[in-house]
Amino acid sequence: MVLTLAAGLIGLRLAAQLALNVLNASEVRRHAAGPPPAVAAMMDAATYGRAVGYSLAKLRFDSIVDTVDAAVLAAALASGVLPWLYAPFRALAPDGSWNGALYLLATGLLLGLVSLPFDWWGQFRLEQRFGFNQSTLRLWVADKLKGMLLVVGIGFPLLWALLGLVRWTGDRWWLWGFALLFGFQLLLIVLYPRLILPLFNRLTPLAAGELRERLLALADRTGFRARTIQVMDGSRRSAHSNAFFTGFGRFRRIVLYDTLVDQLAPGELEAVLAHEIGHYKRGHIPKMLAVSAALQAGGFALVAWLARSAWFNAAFGFPPRELAPTFLLFGLLSGLVTFWFSPVFNLVSRHHEYEADAFARDAVHGPGPLVDALRKLARKNLSNLTPHPLYSGFHYSHPTPVERERALTG
Ligand SMILES: [Zn+2]
Repeated sequence: MVLTLAAGLIGLRLAAQLALNVLNASEVRRHAAGPPPAVAAMMDAATYGRAVGYSLAKLRFDSIVDTVDAAVLAAALASGVLPWLYAPFRALAPDGSWNGALYLLATGLLLGLVSLPFDWWGQFRLEQRFGFNQSTLRLWVADKLKGMLLVVGIGFPLLWALLGLVRWTGDRWWLWGFALLFGFQLLLIVLYPRLILPLFNRLTPLAAGELRERLLALADRTGFRARTIQVMDGSRRSAHSNAFFTGFGRFRRIVLYDTLVDQLAPGELEAVLAHEIGHYKRGHIPKMLAVSAALQAGGFALVAWLARSAWFNAAFGFPPRELAPTFLLFGLLSGLVTFWFSPVFNLVSRHHEYEADAFARDAVHGPGPLVDALRKLARKNLSNLTPHPLYSGFHYSHPTPVERERALTG
């Protein structure tokens, strides 16, 4: 019964994902011969043609990945391989927590292996074909190994502690578990740009000169008081460009991709930085953290309830009332439900993007520079400027450049 329900949810999500991809592809094709006027103003015909090709190729690839993911998940749940693998780990220490943590990591890494060939294909075939790939096989393998070591190094102690909490704190363990995980996430936000990001990228302070003066003046004017603006060598892996904001409070910092610095004029970069500062000044980071905290607390309460039940673990062939399998099943199944809420999260995120854009427009005294930056970035990244509204509802955390330009100038 529970297994049937899970199978139904897997099928339902896959059907929705494939339908959205087909819907979006037909929307792109519908405009392929002649772009709408607002799009034609952003992209010349040749670039638009390449953007159409890139969008369609990505959608085909996504459909394959979605299908394989669903098949792997269904097979993992129905075949009995997960409880079969659990037995030897459990035998190591029937009352222990460390072996449960090892089991979760081993299972996660095994399931992650399936995605490796697709990840490779995406980078060295798809991105390569459209001129975006800058990575090498050697760098790609090194990235994967480092990522794996990080997952084990950080994940093992954290999972061990989470699984051990029941013994130390009793029925209220999930509240402590939530506090532990959320506290750890806050710590990670601070440590990420200092300890983890440098493992993968080189970060250098933006060189002295006109651009730096201009950006620091903007930061001063908007009350952001940036100490440094860092440039990251994103070009080592991809020609795609980006800017982002990490940390909070004293630990906040702004990181610009070197590709972005190369592609944009100083005035445009100033507008992009003003947008990032806008996220900070409008309080988007604490708001998103609060939402995430509420969701995680709810998730922990649900895990605790499922772990107490006699039916949940048993439905998938696991011994009942053992926490490690409940965590695993929750991790595998929760996406089947949260997928349907992604339009809500994207709606909030897009609202924040509009707010940050409006902040940037005021900070640089007019929409011109940000509009120019958005147009240039849409061309350089071959953005799909005509997504189907249902598709963008499920998949776009940002409004399209056309929508942003309309909001900026309207
Ligand atoms: Zn933004």
